[in-house]
Amino acid sequence: MTAFDYDLFVIGGGSGGVRAARLAGSLGKRVAIAEEYRFGGTCVIRGCVPKKLFVYASQFPEHFEDAAGFGWQVGEASFDWKKLVAAKDREISRLEGLYRRGLENAGTEILESRAELVDAHTIRLVKTGQTVTAERILIATGGSANPHAALPGHELCITSNEAFDLPELPRSILIAGGGYIAVEFANIFHGLGVDTTLIYRGKEILSRFDSDMRQGLHKAMEEKGIRIILTDVIQEVQKAPAGGLIARTLEGQRLAVDAVMLALGRDPNTQGLGLEAAGVAVDEKGAIVVDDYSRTSVAHIHALGDVTDRVQLTPVAIHEAMCFIETEFRNNPTKPDHDLIATAVFSQPEIGTVGLSEEAACRKYPEIEVYRAEFRPMKATLSGRSEKMIMKLIVDAASRKVVGAHILGHDAGEMAQLLGITLKAGCTKDDFDRTMAVHPTAAEELVTMYQPSYRVRDGERI
Ligand SMILES: Cc1cc2nc3c(=O)[nH]c(=O)nc-3n(C[C@H](O)[C@H](O)[C@H](O)COP(=O)(O)OP(=O)(O)OC[C@H]3O[C@@H](n4cnc5c(N)ncnc54)[C@H](O)[C@@H]3O)c2cc1C
Repeated sequence: MTAFDYDLFVIGGGSGGVRAARLAGSLGKRVAIAEEYRFGGTCVIRGCVPKKLFVYASQFPEHFEDAAGFGWQVGEASFDWKKLVAAKDREISRLEGLYRRGLENAGTEILESRAELVDAHTIRLVKTGQTVTAERILIATGGSANPHAALPGHELCITSNEAFDLPELPRSILIAGGGYIAVEFANIFHGLGVDTTLIYRGKEILSRFDSDMRQGLHKAMEEKGIRIILTDVIQEVQKAPAGGLIARTLEGQRLAVDAVMLALGRDPNTQGLGLEAAGVAVDEKGAIVVDDYSRTSVAHIHALGDVTDRVQLTPVAIHEAMCFIETEFRNNPTKPDHDLIATAVFSQPEIGTVGLSEEAACRKYPEIEVYRAEFRPMKATLSGRSEKMIMKLIVDAASRKVVGAHILGHDAGEMAQLLGITLKAGCTKDDFDRTMAVHPTAAEELVTMYQPSYRVRDGERI
């Protein structure tokens, strides 16, 4: 028996923390997990899950419109925001229950409290003031939306947190940001009938994505009626005398809207956590510094997920948790693998992507081949919708390996998952070429682009 109360104490009941606590508990370890809000964390309560449910809700108007081309006559549709929010709440409560049950079944002690470090082995439960000790500590406290406190009027704005539970659906919204959360919410609100404007300081939305995806999505969003303002930022938000808000921008625009949403990145949840007292180092952004095994500057304290600001995605936090358990409790040192992470933007149309963008591949390889197809998906032929799909494979000319795959169009996220396997397996373009197509699908285009659209050598298109 050790002198500690627990073998492992986990701070934060989100994607990473719950997985680590559950696995350690099922190995017979004495584990406690503290959560200050709701089990399931950002992903389940106010991230991936409710967002995807809202994406589905926002797609129905287009489905209704498209139906006419297939002979259907759909009666007048109406939308009830409160009903959607209530249905979403029921679903996330169900999932939260599953998370709790998983922890209980693994014998993990659930503590509904904020937890802070007192020293390198002692944790204080804020709710009761009680202190407990643990041999190992795992910090998985995630991140929070940047409130942009320097913006005059920021307190009048919402973030993604509030967007999920607005008492009323606004008639108009201005969303600040160019990352995937800003873009997804712009599409959600627009689909639900909200007059939507996106404002972003950069030259194009979604900065780290392939340029064809960025430009293609931008065009599709504008064609739907979403207004996109680039190279400009909000400078001040004020209440309008007649109700609603007025946002003034650096370039002199004055935008009158019902709501302003800030989606300007996420900050690691490390404030007031007692990291200094425990000797845990953070970087200039406040993220916990970890080594390849998610170990902090204190050998028995680990950190993973968004609080470490490596790759802020749910599957990454879960993978890091599984590697942590392998390393610390199964005597099998395992580094998380952050290479070739397939991911999606649930915009409308969607983006699915894995590997290098054309721009990044050009920087890495002396010569690349680009296979690119742009076409109207079959469903759009009868519906009459003008939306185009773009598919793109980036190939290293020397090794023939496919080093990037990018799709803009319906179900792109689903396709990205499978492309992730092929890239991870190191498939070459020849492997794609000898793969039989599934017909008729949109995805068949991925295995029938036999000739490169163009090559890029030393940064020059040839
Ligand atoms: C709007 C939105 C959409 C997203 N969509 C996607 C998506 O489509 N796909 C995807 O992969 N990722 C998505 N993400 C990102 C994803 O949610 C995160 O990467 C993931 O949740 C990170 O898991 P985590 O365990 O690091 O932290 P979290 O899930 O954030 O969990 C941290 C938990 O710790 C708790 N906590 C914090 N401090 C303390 C404390 N001191 N004591 C006790 N508890 C504490 C918090 O309440 C929280 O529950 C989205 C995020 C947002 C905001």
